[in-house]
Amino acid sequence: MARYTGPVCKLCRREGEKLFLKGERCFTPKCAFERRSYAPGEHGRAGQGRAGDRVSDYGRQLRAKQRARRVYGVLERQFRRYFSVAIKTRGLTGLNLLQTLELRLDNVIYRMGFAENRTQARQMVSHGHFVVNEHKTDIPSMLLKPGDKIVVREGSRSKSFFKELPDFAETRNCALWLDRDIKGLSGRVLRLPERAEIDGTLNEQLIVEYYSR
Ligand code: SF4
Repeated sequence: MARYTGPVCKLCRREGEKLFLKGERCFTPKCAFERRSYAPGEHGRAGQGRAGDRVSDYGRQLRAKQRARRVYGVLERQFRRYFSVAIKTRGLTGLNLLQTLELRLDNVIYRMGFAENRTQARQMVSHGHFVVNEHKTDIPSMLLKPGDKIVVREGSRSKSFFKELPDFAETRNCALWLDRDIKGLSGRVLRLPERAEIDGTLNEQLIVEYYSR
């Protein structure tokens, strides 16, 4: 599946806020947004003066959609596909969409605290280091469901990265809708995440409005 391969920090600058896409670096003075908190490009700095300008409804909806896409590292076509599924699913479309994004395999590994950020989780999956329900997979966009079990592949455990992973995972939180066994390098989806357990800065209502125009 295609993915964004450009400079990651540019995305934060474009959105006008820190999206914490890089992990530890995001909390240091090396963060590009700390140094240049204006939009990228020739007119980025000039746009700063227009910050007080009125933003149209469409502008707000577009930014909310782009922001969610960037947080989860999903390209437009796939994001729209997730929305089509969300709209056909019973319940609130916005919540359905966010739950779908949360249930991506790369996101689940990140939420279990096994990766510093979603990009790293994605790379770990695409290199074939995980087994889901006893089947090896290399598809980061694979959608999980309650009851699914994720385990680090036996053949990957001897690699130094995975030997050090338990120590790293000890320093990270695991989402409450997931269960993890740090020593066993495995985890399980317990249930669907509730809205309060998903990034509160995402505005699913505006995203629904964007695609309902
Ligand atoms: Fe965004 Fe992190 Fe880059 Fe800062 S370091 S601009 S928060 S991705």
